[in-house]
Order: sequence, then C-alpha cells, then structure tokens
Amino acid sequence: MIKINNLNVYYQNDIALSNISTTLDDGDLVAIVGPNGAGKSTLLKSIMQQITIKSGSIDLGDLSLKHIAYLPQSSQIDHTFPITVTEFVSAGAWQRTRFWRAFSRQEQRLLQQALAKVNLVDMAERQISQLSGGQFQRMLFARMLLQDAKILLLDEPFSAIDAQTTALLMTVINECQQQGKTIIAVIHDLALVQRYFPSTLLVATELIASGKTKDVLTQVNLVNAGYQHFSHCAIHNVFSNELNNLSNKPLNIPAKNDIINIEKQTS
Ligand code: ADP
Ligand code: MG
Repeated sequence: MIKINNLNVYYQNDIALSNISTTLDDGDLVAIVGPNGAGKSTLLKSIMQQITIKSGSIDLGDLSLKHIAYLPQSSQIDHTFPITVTEFVSAGAWQRTRFWRAFSRQEQRLLQQALAKVNLVDMAERQISQLSGGQFQRMLFARMLLQDAKILLLDEPFSAIDAQTTALLMTVINECQQQGKTIIAVIHDLALVQRYFPSTLLVATELIASGKTKDVLTQVNLVNAGYQHFSHCAIHNVFSNELNNLSNKPLNIPAKNDIINIEKQTS
C-alpha cells in the first residue's frame, strides 16, 4: 500500500503537485494520466524520494524503497554509457549480489530468464548504445524483472515504441500483476489505459480524479484536467485477442478515429 497525504511539491516557486491525497492498494494496476507538465513524473520521483517534497507525506506501510523498482523515462537515461546489455540488466540483482563478486549460478539463471522474457537473449553482449528504442525499453524491463520488487513504478514505458513491443511489455506487466506485484505506470494512450488498467489517477497538478478507470476517464474529468480536444468513439477490441498470443504477431493499429483521441491544445 502507498498512502499519499496532502502532498505538495514545488520547483523553486512553481507548484508541480498540489494537495495530492490518494491510496494505491497492494496488487493494483494503476495508470497515471494527465497532460504534459501535469506532474506525473514528479509524483513518481516523490515516491522514490528523488525530490524534496514541500509538505505532506508518502507512507509505504510495511515496505521501503528497496521494495520498489523504478523505471524512469527512457530519455532520462544515458544511452551512450559504455556497458553491455548483460551488464546493465545485471544491475537489477544488485541488492542480492552486492556482497559477492561474481553472480551465482542461480542469479545467472534469473538473468537469462529476464532476457528471454523480453526477447533480448540475442542482444546480451551488445553495447546499450547500439539498441533501438524498443530494444532499450525491453532492456529496462529485464533489469526491473531481475530486481523482483513488490512495487513497480513505470514512467512512460510505452513512449516511442512500436505496437508489438508495447503488447509484449503489457504482457510482462500483466504477469507481474498476477504474481501479486503493485504496478503504477504513466501512460499516454488512453485506449490502452481503458483496456488494461483497472484503476487510474488523473493528474493536472491537482488530483482531478482517482478510482476505477471507467469512472475517472470521463469527458468532464478530462476537460477538467486540461485536455481540450476530445472525441469519444467506440473502442474496438484492438489488442484483446492478440495479447495472449502476441510475441510473434504484429498488432493491428486502430484507425485514429477508432480510439479515444485526445490531444492537449498547444497554443
Ligand atoms: P509530467 O511528467 O506530467 O509531464 P513533470 O512532473 O515532469 O510533468 O513536471 C511538472 C512540472 O514541473 C512541469 O511544469 C515541469 O516543467 C516542471 N519541472 C519538472 N522538473 C523540473 C525541474 N527539475 N526543475 C524545474 N521545473 C521542473
Ligand atoms: Mg513525465
């Protein structure tokens, strides 16, 4: 359980999060939704104690930071660092292995399992700088799987990757939830949120709404969050069947009007 009480966060004099109070239950699969600059990343960084909060509290209950795996936005990671995929992913086991110089056979096995889960076995000895965006994101997931944390915080895990990679990683997320993990992910694709995330936090500096996704992603709430263009059409079962069977099959991308299409007005 993560209990957030009256959280206020500022950058210098600018407020980034105002009076956020909510509880995230164990085992829940939660999407964080909101326009650019809404404070979504700030919320995850606050939970990770990476930034100083001005007031309020974040209570992790029986858990501590070592039980949380955090996947930052890919853009915040140095892709040029001279390190192989294996070395990068191995860091996920650090909490278990730091007292030993070498990986035990058991850890080697877990590492191979994590790479296999995201189809990266063939890339194991590549430099991370040589990976495509989708491969890089799969590598981040492998490191997270090796960490085997109880809570997963994912910041835009599906940004700038193709539909097939999204589907593969969504399967990994679903398996993590079946293992009892709590997953909290910043997601831009509202059709994906509606289909796969039972709970949603809608954030626009303030908490606009939280709870069951279907109750949160209403037109009124979305407009209140600052989304200006909004058209609501039927959402087809674009991902449904493929998800069980997705690793080798490209997904059909829905026509733009088939999904909720929502953009923040830029001017
Ligand atoms: P989101 O992830 O929802 O796009 P962020 O949490 O990154 O939003 O940012 C929330 C607000 O705080 C934005 O207005 C952003 O410009 C500002 N901000 C984020 N990080 C910093 C920082 N390190 N210094 C100053 N302002 C920041
Ligand atoms: Mg962000």
